[in-house]
Amino acid sequence: MNTQKTVKDYIRTIVDFPHEGILFRDVTTLFADPRGFRMAVDQMLHPYAGQRIDKVVGLEARGFILGGAVAHQLGCGFVPVRKKGKLPGAVISEEYTLEYGEAVVELHDDAITAGETVLLVDDLLATGGTAEAGIKLIERLGGQIIGCAFVIDLPDLGGRERIEALGMDVHALCA
Ligand code: 5GP
Repeated sequence: MNTQKTVKDYIRTIVDFPHEGILFRDVTTLFADPRGFRMAVDQMLHPYAGQRIDKVVGLEARGFILGGAVAHQLGCGFVPVRKKGKLPGAVISEEYTLEYGEAVVELHDDAITAGETVLLVDDLLATGGTAEAGIKLIERLGGQIIGCAFVIDLPDLGGRERIEALGMDVHALCA
């Protein structure tokens, strides 16, 4: 019998968070475990080994934790996509639709140079709205997206189809 733990085994589900009816996938237990965290980071960058990646872009907030580690491992730069009003320099913005209302994400306008290759990183792909906004920001600066890597893909919410329809490679470690 194979008793080796997988990435999914380190993730717990919290019932009714942030509100009733939501099953929240909590990756803090994955990040807190040295084997789990290393496994997740290694598996996220595995498909891109040998490809030139100039920048890892991480989506706020858990994409910062994963993206920083992925960038360190690849030996490339890290760039944050943040919620509105958090970045100190000149920014470009993208608005996107949430379950209730709208949100805005921002990127420093000099964070990526046209032609640079980029790996987008976040913890979870649900509807794909957040990732799509990040992709639009990167492409507006002329970044060439090599792939979009997630720990979790929730397939029922259609995010993968939405992001693949933009011509992107989607890589997720578990559902
Ligand atoms: P989407 O825009 O694809 O609908 O939602 C994905 C974004 O919401 C990601 O940035 C992700 O961090 C966050 N998110 C939504 N649901 C969950 C969840 O159950 N667990 C975690 N860890 N993040 C979630």
